[in-house]
Amino acid sequence: MNIFVLGTILLASFCFAQNSWFFSKQKIASIKAPSTIRVLLHELKGKKSLVIKSKGGFLLETLDGKKQTIPDVIITICWHQHGIMINKIPYKNTINLNPLNGIFSTNQRTYRGKLRLILEKNKIFVVNTVSIEEYVYCVLKTESWPGWPLETNKTLAITCRTYAISKALEARSQKKLYDVTDTNKFQTYHGIHKTPVIAQALKDTQGIIIAHNNQPILAMYDSCCGGVIPSRIETINQKKTPYLARTYACPYCKNCPAYHWQTSMPITHLCKKIPCNEKYFNTLVITKKDRAGLVQELLIKGKGISMTITGNKTYSFSNTIKSFYFDTQKKGNSIVFKGRGLGHHIGLCQWGAHEMTKKGFNYKQILQYYYPTTKLVSII
Ligand SMILES: [Zn+2]
Repeated sequence: MNIFVLGTILLASFCFAQNSWFFSKQKIASIKAPSTIRVLLHELKGKKSLVIKSKGGFLLETLDGKKQTIPDVIITICWHQHGIMINKIPYKNTINLNPLNGIFSTNQRTYRGKLRLILEKNKIFVVNTVSIEEYVYCVLKTESWPGWPLETNKTLAITCRTYAISKALEARSQKKLYDVTDTNKFQTYHGIHKTPVIAQALKDTQGIIIAHNNQPILAMYDSCCGGVIPSRIETINQKKTPYLARTYACPYCKNCPAYHWQTSMPITHLCKKIPCNEKYFNTLVITKKDRAGLVQELLIKGKGISMTITGNKTYSFSNTIKSFYFDTQKKGNSIVFKGRGLGHHIGLCQWGAHEMTKKGFNYKQILQYYYPTTKLVSII
């Protein structure tokens, strides 16, 4: 019996055994989940400016409650030593700039919700406040594959919603200016779109989140886990986030294009990134991995040099180094990296979730598989 079949059988028995508690969707009143999220779209400083468009014009509101309608369809914002400049008119403090029709565009992307221009540390932070549901709908366009089936999108809708709420709660407890950025450091947010399967996934899972100890979990996910066992990853706090410490390997992403990857980096390029002197560089070897096989430390060997760099830094050299699970080998004037997986190997595996859907598992079973010790709860 191969590991794939064994994994399927083990999962099926596990899910049926846990049926009684996991499938009960219970309302948890103690979770004070925010209904909106604050997304940083831009930081403006120096001479940088930003054009924002809205067909209905804007309502400008200062912190002391003064309101003013700006009928202009196009406005230009920039930082100025005296404050925020809007169409060359200065405002000394943070302001709300809300599109009157609820929709605005900037940099060829269109968003719903409100805008806040926060003046802080000689910068303007352009923050979009939008409902959690609208935000999840938007990020699913980039974080999921709209061609994937409804059940996979339902799985990812709950995951993205839970992640967003946990990050919003964390940011607000730390009194941050915004909750998340719009990049893949959090979840990629490129504004509105029209994708019926995603709209249906949101509707079918409305208000459902993943909880542990009656709190939203930090629902991390990556594209392809590469079969790495998360409980062996050194950075996972098994006590604080036991739901990220899955003790079994996901066999479901093996058909993902990034399950096995290889990339070659010229030594010239590598030396610019490290940085080090190419004349003395000989090779780059891995000196430390954690129990999961993720690279923690590498050694640059050469004439008179012996220098260590971290696995994290190496991962940042190029997006062709797709994960932290890799080996290195010198070939000619290049270093060849051979690895497995795409992303950080923690939490839900998106390609694995898609494969599980194709095998007939529903979103509840998939979420339980990737986030052990959790349950689904309703926050509405
Ligand atoms: Zn996987």
